[in-house]
Amino acid sequence: MIVMKFGGTSVEDAQAIRRLVNLVRERLWQQPVIVSSAMAKVTDTLLQATSTAASGNEPATLELLERLESRHIATAHDLLRDCSQTEADISALFAELRPLLSAICALREATPRLSDRIASFGERLATVLVSAALRESGVNAALIDARECIVTDDHFTCAAPLMDASNQRLSARLIPLLEAKRVPVLGGFIAATAQGQTTTLGRGGSDLTAALVGGALDAERVEIWTDVDGIRSTDPRLYGHTRHIESISFQEAAELAQLGAKVLHPSTLIPAMEKNIPVYVLNSRNPLHPGTCVRTECPGDDGVKAIAVKHGITLVQASTARSFRPTGLASEMFSFLEADGCLPDIASIGQTSVTVTVDNKEVVARLTKQFEKRVNIKAENSKALISLVAEGIRQIVGLPVQVLLALDGIEVWMSSPGASQRSFSFVISEKDVPEVVRRLHELLLEDNCSLLAANAEQSVAHAAVV
Ligand code: ADP
Ligand code: ASP
Ligand code: MG
Repeated sequence: MIVMKFGGTSVEDAQAIRRLVNLVRERLWQQPVIVSSAMAKVTDTLLQATSTAASGNEPATLELLERLESRHIATAHDLLRDCSQTEADISALFAELRPLLSAICALREATPRLSDRIASFGERLATVLVSAALRESGVNAALIDARECIVTDDHFTCAAPLMDASNQRLSARLIPLLEAKRVPVLGGFIAATAQGQTTTLGRGGSDLTAALVGGALDAERVEIWTDVDGIRSTDPRLYGHTRHIESISFQEAAELAQLGAKVLHPSTLIPAMEKNIPVYVLNSRNPLHPGTCVRTECPGDDGVKAIAVKHGITLVQASTARSFRPTGLASEMFSFLEADGCLPDIASIGQTSVTVTVDNKEVVARLTKQFEKRVNIKAENSKALISLVAEGIRQIVGLPVQVLLALDGIEVWMSSPGASQRSFSFVISEKDVPEVVRRLHELLLEDNCSLLAANAEQSVAHAAVV
C-alpha cells in the first residue's frame, strides 16, 4: 500500500480536489490511504477565530465562521453533482464548532486544549469534501476520524505521537478497510490523547500523520503532494532560480525541515526513516514532474544541497557585568526552553553571556520574565536563521571563507556549525534575507560552483591520475 498526503493548497478548492481525485484513481491498484490537510488558510482562520473569540469580539468571530462555512459549502456545490449529504455534514460540523467559540467569547480565554479542538475542524471539514468527491467518482472511500487512530501525549498544540498505541490503532482500523478494497481518508494534523482529548501535531503536522500511517502499515512509499516541484535548493518563494533536488537523504531532508524549510514538517521523516520507507515530495499542480525522493542512500553530491531559512527568530542574550558561571545559566536556560518545547537552533556561551535563538515570541516573553531579575536580558527581534545543509559540510573546502566573503556588508549576528555536522547556520536581519539567499545560491548552488567536499576533490584527483 501507499500513503498519499495532500497539503492545504492541494485541497484548496473544487479544482484542486478534482486533481486529487484523478491522482488517487491513477493509483488505486497500489492501495492508497489518503491523508488530507485542511483547505489552504483554514487552520489560520480557525486559530484567528479562537483569538478573536478570546478577545470577546463575538460579531467578528461569527463573521469569520460564516465565511469559512460558505467557502466549504460553495466548494461542495462546485465539486459534487449531489451535495445534499455533504452540505448537511458540513453544517453539522459548524453547529458543533459555534458553541465552542461562543464559550471562549464568554470566558474571554482560550486554553491550548480548546485551541486544538477548534483547529481540528479544518481537517475534519476537508476530509468530508475529499471523501465525498472520491465516492462520487466511483472510489469506495471510507472517511476515518484520525483522532480514533493517532494517540498522542497531552502537549496540546504540538503533541507527540505515542508510537505503540498509534501503530496498533492504525493497523486495527485501516488494514480491514484495505482488505475490503476500500480507500481510507483521514485528516492529517489531528489526533487525540489516550483519554480522547483532541490534540494537534504542530503546524504543518499532516506530513507527520502521513508518515505515521506509512510506518504503521509498512507502506511501499509515502507521497507528500504539495504546491512545488519537490524539495528545491531553497524556498522558491524567496528566490526565482532554485534547483531541483532529485533525491536527498533522510538526514539531510530532516535537517532542512528542522532549520525552517516548510516543505516538510520536521518530525515527518522519523517514522519513515525507522522503517526505511521512501518519501516522495510531489507537485499536485504538476504531477508529471518527478519531484524529490527522500530515502536512505542517495548518490553523493558533495556540495551544499540546499539553503534553509527560518523566519521570525529572536536572538536572546542573557548577560551580567561580572563574571558568573555561564554553564549554570546556560543549563537553566536550556532546561527552561526544553520544557517549553522550544530548544534553540544555535547558541553561544561566553564568560559573561549566553545567547540563544528562539523562534516563538511567547516563549521569548516567558524566558525574559523568568530570568530578567537575575541577569540582563536583551531580545533582538526580526531576525532570520539561514542554514546551509549538506552531508559532511565540514569537509567542503573553503566554505566558511567563501560564505563570509559573500556576506560582505551584511550584519551577521551569530553563526555556528550545526551539531549534526550537516549544516552551517547564521543569524541575519530579516530584511537582508532575499539578498543573502541570492548571493549564497549564486555562490554555492549554481552551475559554476567550485566548492566541493574534500573527499570529492580527492576522488576527482584520483580519477584523473588513474
Ligand atoms: P502544504 O500545504 O502542501 O503542506 P507547505 O506550504 O507546508 O505546503 O509547504 C510547501 C511550501 O514550502 C512551498 O510552497 C515553499 O514555499 C516552501 N518551501 C520552503 N523551503 C522549500 C524548499 N527547499 N523546497 C521547496 N519548497 C520549500
Ligand atoms: N492544517 C494544518 C496547518 O495548517 C496542518 C497541515 O496543513 O499540515 O498547519
Ligand atoms: Mg505543509
